[in-house]
Amino acid sequence: MRLVLVGPPGAGKGTQAQFIASHLSIPKISTGDIFRDNVSHGTALGRRAQAFMKRGDLVPDEVTIAMVTDRLADDDAGSGFLLDGFPRNVPQAETLKKMLSAWDTRLDVVLELVVDDDEVVRRLSGRRTCRRCGRVWHSTFDPPAQPGICDDCGGELFQRDDDREETIRHRLEVYQQQTAPLVSFYADEGILLGIDATGPVDEITERALSALRRFIR
Ligand code: ADP
Ligand code: AMP
Repeated sequence: MRLVLVGPPGAGKGTQAQFIASHLSIPKISTGDIFRDNVSHGTALGRRAQAFMKRGDLVPDEVTIAMVTDRLADDDAGSGFLLDGFPRNVPQAETLKKMLSAWDTRLDVVLELVVDDDEVVRRLSGRRTCRRCGRVWHSTFDPPAQPGICDDCGGELFQRDDDREETIRHRLEVYQQQTAPLVSFYADEGILLGIDATGPVDEITERALSALRRFIR
């Protein structure tokens, strides 16, 4: 299955992506994770992306598209993938469509996680990420047994630079202006599926998987 998750920052895309991708046995490709990995390793790509990310702006399309093109050409993405965080504007969506069509394929479905702004702010302000394995926690909604330490790998948890209040507000504006138009773009393509993404994480995963069932091939 070739699947895209769309929704505002904090909607739970990363959280759901790990369960959905593992259930469907497809790789989860998160552009935010790839950028953060490059920033932490000080690569040329990371140095290029860092200032945009810190401000909560989108990294320029030519940089992002080149990175995704490379990643989608990897063998493990040949028979399906789950994209988390890409596309994030209409030009990226159009490029993805052309890229897949050149490979004689297309997206099967775009799953929109629907959550209101107040919930998104609550989720982002408590988000904590493991420095070692990347697993996402929440200081109140999904706390690790020991504060600041990842239950899965014992790594140190940190708060993302772009999860401070000012930047959160800016990222929500960027979402409304640049990413939200993708909802009607994909509705027009006839492949948009929306689910209510509020409630316990495992119930949302169930909701997502049962909505996706008719697209599984
Ligand atoms: P996104 O990838 O869309 O930016 P994340 O998956 O990183 O969002 O989730 C943002 C924060 O919200 C994290 O701290 C995560 O633990 C928390 N979270 C995710 N899903 C839920 C949920 N259903 N209820 C409460 N908190 C959630
Ligand atoms: P995320 O982890 O999805 O919240 O992404 C974190 C940051 O990475 C974003 O605020 C952007 O600066 C950058 N980023 C991630 N995906 C994209 C994309 N598709 N296009 C441009 N910038 C992106």
